[in-house]
Amino acid sequence: MNSPTTACDICGATQTLSLTIHNIRHHAHNRRYCTNCVLKQHPGLFCPICFELHDDAAQLPPHHHLMCVRCPSIAHRSCAFPSSTASATPPPFFCPTCLDSNYNFINLPSRKAGTVDVRSAKVLVAAARIAAISMSKAAAAARFDAERRAREAAVARKRAKEALEHLAEVLASEQTEQNEQSGVASAGRRRGG
Ligand SMILES: [Zn+2]
Ligand SMILES: [Zn+2]
Ligand SMILES: [Zn+2]
Repeated sequence: MNSPTTACDICGATQTLSLTIHNIRHHAHNRRYCTNCVLKQHPGLFCPICFELHDDAAQLPPHHHLMCVRCPSIAHRSCAFPSSTASATPPPFFCPTCLDSNYNFINLPSRKAGTVDVRSAKVLVAAARIAAISMSKAAAAARFDAERRAREAAVARKRAKEALEHLAEVLASEQTEQNEQSGVASAGRRRGG
């Protein structure tokens, strides 16, 4: 195999360290970013607490969302301050990365278990989707090598789909564990087919 080492253009993380290196279009350049750097470079596209993507930032109803005091990061109000009422003025919101400059969106999987936790799986989905959107936009914008871009966009979309499927698996296995812990018979564990 003659494949070059794939590493993040920003922090230098390698595929094994950060799980996935995303091909992404950023400031009109094709880049490779790790999951953590994809999210750090795109505040405002996703909620930093539940990791859902904001479909159209321009159309967010302002009273449902809070922008970070220091950066363009936008969180769901219900995620940032779950107990605050809609009518009350919310306290100032600081996103996780502004609170802690060493903040990592993704927790590396433990070597023992070899699995990713639910939160990290959601982070992976968000990063893969942001990468897929950026590549699709690039494909639409540049006709001259649209074909190559379209291929890259397809790969990015496939990644997003895989990340979603992975999330579903993680959630399902958590559910199974919970069932087993709560005494439900595990003998007849269903097999996916
Ligand atoms: Zn990185
Ligand atoms: Zn949220
Ligand atoms: Zn911030």
